[in-house]
Amino acid sequence: MKAVSVRPAAVIAVTLVIYLLYIGFQQLVMHFPSSSDKLRAAQENIPSATERRVDNLWAYYLINAENPLPRDFTVGLDYVQGSFMLDERCAGYARQMIEDAAADGVQLTVVSAYRSVQKQQENLESYTKRLIREGHSSTEARRLAEKEIMLPYTSEHNAGLALDILTPDWWETHDDVTDDFENTEQFRWLSENAHRYGFIMRYPKEYENVTKIIYEPWHYRFVGVYYAEKIKESRLPLEYFYKTNF
Ligand SMILES: [Zn+2]
Repeated sequence: MKAVSVRPAAVIAVTLVIYLLYIGFQQLVMHFPSSSDKLRAAQENIPSATERRVDNLWAYYLINAENPLPRDFTVGLDYVQGSFMLDERCAGYARQMIEDAAADGVQLTVVSAYRSVQKQQENLESYTKRLIREGHSSTEARRLAEKEIMLPYTSEHNAGLALDILTPDWWETHDDVTDDFENTEQFRWLSENAHRYGFIMRYPKEYENVTKIIYEPWHYRFVGVYYAEKIKESRLPLEYFYKTNF
């Protein structure tokens, strides 16, 4: 009688142990990640992508000196303000931002948007010449110019993703874009609202070493609404944020 009452319990216990070992082994085999699995998992684990809250993922990429646009890059364009255009997929966001700012009594004046690669080259050359006229050696002038004007294919303006925004009367008191734009109501409005339209202030003051670009409170880059909010919250430049997300 004793043996009969013990045996079923032992059988159940042994079965359970074998089953748990089997499950454990299966989990280990299935989830032991190779490096390419890890990369894939990291990419799939962008919270927005899995939660399907991300918008305009096409616009979430780096364009800088190390990450130029491909030579065969093309873009469909649409008007934003006056003759200024952006990628047609984000032009509507910019138009809405300008319209909503105006409704708040703030006139956002676009002074640069999409720029062709050829125009980029011309800008770089004319600015270099200007610096030479101001007394810099040609090497120094070129170096300084490249700090402010990106090489062709490396500017977000070439991609049709960036806007330079100033006040309507800017040129009455300035002969250049300068960081005192940060003292305007336009800058305050953009700081509070640009992310709602998918735009970030791309070159923050405290990260010039990372972006390799001077502080540009007037330069706004489209990354989509989801990432614009995340980047604003993180207070990190796109270079850092991009790395931590991929
Ligand atoms: Zn710009």
